[in-house]
Amino acid sequence: MGRDPNCLFCKIVAGEIPCARVYETEHALAFLDIGPLKPGHLLVIPKAHHETLPELPDSVAAETARLLPRLCRAVKKATQAEGLNVMVNVGPVAGQSVAHMHWHIIPRHGGDSIAWPWNSQRYEEGAVTLLQDAIAAELRPED
Ligand code: AMP
Ligand code: ZN
Repeated sequence: MGRDPNCLFCKIVAGEIPCARVYETEHALAFLDIGPLKPGHLLVIPKAHHETLPELPDSVAAETARLLPRLCRAVKKATQAEGLNVMVNVGPVAGQSVAHMHWHIIPRHGGDSIAWPWNSQRYEEGAVTLLQDAIAAELRPED
């Protein structure tokens, strides 16, 4: 299994750094975020070292992501959350601070203090088709 000796989460997987484990399989580990946005904030990682989501092999993604619904149900029940944010930061520019791919599961309650500072935009005339074609072209042939 791929491991980066300098990676914080690889050290957690190996048990060299402690964490509050809640669930694990042969290929994946779920543990509490040490700096939670809300209590119960969970991180879900593949045990193998892969820096970002786009770099995950399909099989690793499948092995890890298949746990998300079950983990979401557990966090929701245990924290009595009304909802959740499930998110992945990809790269430092998007806020990824640990270069070992991880999903965040964040409990949400009505009136909580979490706010997304994102403002949605509008497409200029014709831009939808350009982006639709550009992204679709990257997916042909399937890679
Ligand atoms: P991101 O900014 O998306 O890379 O998220 C990294 C997350 O890892 C942050 O929410 C941190 O609070 C969390 N984190 C950092 N170190 C640890 C640790 N030793 N145990 C658990 N969570 C950690
Ligand atoms: Zn790692």
